[in-house]
Amino acid sequence: MTRSTKDFSPRHCLDRFSFNTATIGNNQEQPLHDWEIAQLTDACAEKGFSAITLWRNDLRGGVRKVVDAVNAAGLKVSGLCRSPFLIGPLASDRELTDQEFRASIENAASIGAPSLTVCVGGVITGTKGMSYSFSVLEEQLSTAAEFASEMGIRLALEPLHPMYAGSRSCIVTTQDAISLIAKIDHHALSLAIDVYHVWWDQKLAQSITGIAPEKIEAFHLCDWLPDTRDMLLDRGMMGDGVADIRNLRNILYEHGFCGYEEVEIFSSRNWWQQDPNTVLETCVDRFLSCC
Ligand code: ZN
Repeated sequence: MTRSTKDFSPRHCLDRFSFNTATIGNNQEQPLHDWEIAQLTDACAEKGFSAITLWRNDLRGGVRKVVDAVNAAGLKVSGLCRSPFLIGPLASDRELTDQEFRASIENAASIGAPSLTVCVGGVITGTKGMSYSFSVLEEQLSTAAEFASEMGIRLALEPLHPMYAGSRSCIVTTQDAISLIAKIDHHALSLAIDVYHVWWDQKLAQSITGIAPEKIEAFHLCDWLPDTRDMLLDRGMMGDGVADIRNLRNILYEHGFCGYEEVEIFSSRNWWQQDPNTVLETCVDRFLSCC
């Protein structure tokens, strides 16, 4: 097998550089700033982003408005966040969950997103360990993958940090996610890798060899602060923490990764308090200098 001859210099491809709107708090129920979607898309393009990943909240003003703003700025939509939790204590009952899952897949299709990020939810209430939850997920994801395929959408499974196993995701390692994807074996399933969730994993390089590079949808950028005060909303800006982001990127690119690199920082006490322009500028600057 020949090794990739891809030239990694310059090592930063802005053509695949994306801004996740949660980085200015658009994943929150109440808006944290008064920017309209068009102001955000224009600013993203101006600062050097090529794509934007939206949250379902961003669509509240209407899909047409979002699509027009994205097109006018010359951006691509790199994805939609996210599926409902499918199982565990934060999931609704099965019928509602299935409805919401389908609705989120339809939302992704309506804005021309290639994929929907899937956070599967924690261990099923009343059960212990991971096995039973995995088997239920397998069935749910198989059904959803079929519908996603009809809609032209991929489901990007995101393993979350093990601290969330009880509540937000019983898929906690890249290996878990890859095994499940391999077991279901559906072309509409892909993988999302996030610095925040995998930076500690010494087996990442080994795990990643188990999936085709084109099935790695996106790499989410942020950092892990050594004094993290809130496990959900205290992510660091690239360069401010202890994650070896350069090494993680090398692992992915050496494997042939060709997806989006997406800045995604939930930061209620710091970045969400700042002017969105400052946040965007800092993201670009840190991507170029620290990643
Ligand atoms: Zn992520």
